[in-house]
Amino acid sequence: MTSSAAARRAQPAATGRPWYVPVANEEAVFKAAHRQGLSIVLKGPTGCGKTRFVAAMAHELGRPLITVACHDDLTTADLVGRFLLRGGDTEWVDGPLTRAVREGAICYLDEVVEARQDTTVVLHPLADHRRELPIERLGITVPAAPGFGLVASYNPGYQSVLKDLKDSTRQRMVAIEFGFPAPEVEQRIVAREAGVDESTAAMLVRLGAAIRRLQTGGLREVSSTRVLVAAGRLIAEGLDPREAAVAAVAGPLTDDPAITRGLIEMIDVYL
Ligand code: ADP
Repeated sequence: MTSSAAARRAQPAATGRPWYVPVANEEAVFKAAHRQGLSIVLKGPTGCGKTRFVAAMAHELGRPLITVACHDDLTTADLVGRFLLRGGDTEWVDGPLTRAVREGAICYLDEVVEARQDTTVVLHPLADHRRELPIERLGITVPAAPGFGLVASYNPGYQSVLKDLKDSTRQRMVAIEFGFPAPEVEQRIVAREAGVDESTAAMLVRLGAAIRRLQTGGLREVSSTRVLVAAGRLIAEGLDPREAAVAAVAGPLTDDPAITRGLIEMIDVYL
C-alpha cells in the first residue's frame, strides 16, 4: 500500500469516535430511544454497517459497549453468568449481559435470532418498562444502571419463520432499518475504509450494485459494503482490481461454480 493510501485508511483511534457515515435518520432515532430507555433492534443485511453504527453511538453517548455474538448454543448462563470453580471454591462470575446491566453499558446482541428463544426470554424484563434482570441462580433481580441500553441486530433476509423473533420480544423494541447506502455515500465509505481513490471506489460500488440487482437464489448473501471494502483493501495492497474482486467479492458470496463464473463475467465488465 502506498503511504497516502495508508494515511487515508480509517484506523478508528482508541479514543476517537468510530468513523460512521449516517445513511438516514438512524442516529437521531438511536439517541432518542436510548434517552428514553427503550431497547433497539437493528434490522438489515450483514455487512451494511450495523456494528460500526453501534460502536459510534456508544462512543457518542459515552457508554461502554459490550458485544455478544449470538449463536444457537448460546445459553442463558452465557449471557447472565454462572458459578465457576476457582481453587476449590465456587465463585459467581457475571456474564456480559449482567455486566452491562450493572455498569450502565450498551449491550449489543449481534444476530440475536441465532439464539434460542428460551435464551432470549431473559431479555423481556430488561427490554420493557421494568428494566431489570432477574438472576435466578442468585435469587436476585438487578435493576439496570442509568445509561444501560439493549441493542439487538438481525438479518431479516435469511431467517426461517421458525427462527423469527417472538412478537412479544419485537414489540418491546424500537426498530431501525438498515439498507445499503446510496452509491455516493458507499463510494465515500469504500474509499476511506479501504484507502483507495474515489474512481476505484466508484468502480467497486457499481459492481456491488449490479450484483445486488441479480435475481438469483444461488447467492447466500448479496455483495455487502464489507466485501467491497475488502476488495478495495486488496487493491490498496497492489492487487489487480479483477483479482481483488474475484477473491473478496465472488469467492465469499458463492461456492457454486456456475454462479462464480457469472460473477466473474460481471467483474470483467465492471472492473
Ligand atoms: P454489520 O454489523 O451490519 O454486519 P459492519 O458494521 O461490520 O456490518 O460493517 C462492515 C464494514 O462496512 C465496516 O467495517 C465498515 O468498514 C463499512 N461500513 C458499512 N457501512 C458504513 C457506514 N455507514 N459508515 C462507515 N463504515 C461503514
